[in-house]
Amino acid sequence: MKKLSFIQRSRGSHWVGDGFPVRTLFSYNDIADKISPFLLMDYAGPAEFPPTSARRGVGEHPHRGFETVTIVYEGEVEHRDSSGGGGRIGPGDVQWMTAGAGVVHEEFHGRDYASRGGPFEMIQLWVNLPKKNKMTPGKYQAIETAQIPKVDLPQSAGSVRVIAGEYQGNKGPSSTFSPINVWDIQIQTGAGAQFETTEGYTTALFVLRGRITLPSGETIKTAEMAVLETQGTQFAFKAEEATQILLLNGLPLNEPIVGYGPFVMNTEEEVRQAFVDYENGRMGTL
Ligand code: MN
Repeated sequence: MKKLSFIQRSRGSHWVGDGFPVRTLFSYNDIADKISPFLLMDYAGPAEFPPTSARRGVGEHPHRGFETVTIVYEGEVEHRDSSGGGGRIGPGDVQWMTAGAGVVHEEFHGRDYASRGGPFEMIQLWVNLPKKNKMTPGKYQAIETAQIPKVDLPQSAGSVRVIAGEYQGNKGPSSTFSPINVWDIQIQTGAGAQFETTEGYTTALFVLRGRITLPSGETIKTAEMAVLETQGTQFAFKAEEATQILLLNGLPLNEPIVGYGPFVMNTEEEVRQAFVDYENGRMGTL
């Protein structure tokens, strides 16, 4: 059974543009070597927005060298990028954007949602690209909730929505560049669950709501993330309350990480080049 390595908590909150009040759980500047292939996770909300006719969010900005994955729980997010991708995603939907060699995009609250206001909650996860895929062309996958398999856990303990990877033979719709499992897990009060993974894989359990205990006795509460040791092929937990978890699991890339702002590459020279290419319009325009 995998043991707890450490519990990760956000050190505070800040705004991304004027639409996303986020808590950053981790970034490539802190635990990148312990959570590869994941680079960054921002937990936005839960928050309540009043109705507005204004556009709330973050305007045109670039990315290179990784993928941004936006998972909406409440509210709506509208996106438009220089690869021609775009769309509006709502509760249960996921946007998997490959920045690769570079995209320029904007991220706003959906217009319909903004005009009626209400609860807002989402996660944005940055997934690293292997060195050999960092300059792949930009790509956009809009994944609707109906495309995501929802699999019941044994003994009616809850369910697993397979966003990426595979659970019990059910494959998630997201195409990824390295082996990754991203699951949205719901588990009932008092229920337990046990999962299999591959030896050596990174495994982290982020609790959005509720509270779990690990077999070794540690408790993980709302907005905390348990990073498990890579040794072992099984992990388990028990829900002390009705709990929602985002599971991050994958093969560590074990490649150098050099990032600055919206660019995450393997060397400083590549990051400098990213700034030059962006300034010269080589990541496209909206
Ligand atoms: Mn962005």
